[in-house]
Amino acid sequence: MTTTPLQELAKSLHDCQRCKLAKLGRSQVVFGVGNPHASIMFVGEAPGFNEDQKGEPFVGAAGRLLNDLLQSASLSRDQIYIANVIKCRPPENRDPEPDEVETCKPFLLQQIQLIRPKLVCTLGNWATQTLLERKVGITKVKAQAFYLKDFVLFPLLHPAAALHQGGLLDTLKEDFKKLKEFLDKNTKQADPAPGNPAAGPSLQIDPPQPEQINLF
Ligand code: URA
Repeated sequence: MTTTPLQELAKSLHDCQRCKLAKLGRSQVVFGVGNPHASIMFVGEAPGFNEDQKGEPFVGAAGRLLNDLLQSASLSRDQIYIANVIKCRPPENRDPEPDEVETCKPFLLQQIQLIRPKLVCTLGNWATQTLLERKVGITKVKAQAFYLKDFVLFPLLHPAAALHQGGLLDTLKEDFKKLKEFLDKNTKQADPAPGNPAAGPSLQIDPPQPEQINLF
């Protein structure tokens, strides 16, 4: 069986030693999981304990909440692709450090290039700032579409934030409603993704309106 470029990339990172996280207690590299032809990709921050054990992003408590939120937007995990900015668990789940993000970012960009999603939903500050290439707070930019060169970016709060601060849960649910509205507006229901029905109805994002350009 031939391997795809995405599988090749995963293989090339299997025993990655490029940054210090390789020696700081990670069990394995958590590359990403889901439909390699997905038109929607979700990007989190870094694997936590459960993800490090299982080798898959978002399988712990934040992942269970994410599953519920996805369902509320009529999305399922086999329709989408999920990855993180950094692929190895930082010790004690600390924030990623700038050198770790710099080292791992090219692999996230390669994943995006190979999957070619039309929409990338970033979860939390780290993923949002990494892909927007701007130091902007998530609360300022969340639940809006940013029309980048190769895809539309739709930032969302990180589900773990809502687990830590219960008050944010309603906000997160509202923001997933906005995501659903955006998807409904840009999905051609009668037209499943060509050659890839598992990826769901095809997402065709109309060009931005003038007021959607230059939101900064
Ligand atoms: N938080 C993340 O950002 N990513 C995961 O995979 C799990 C929790």
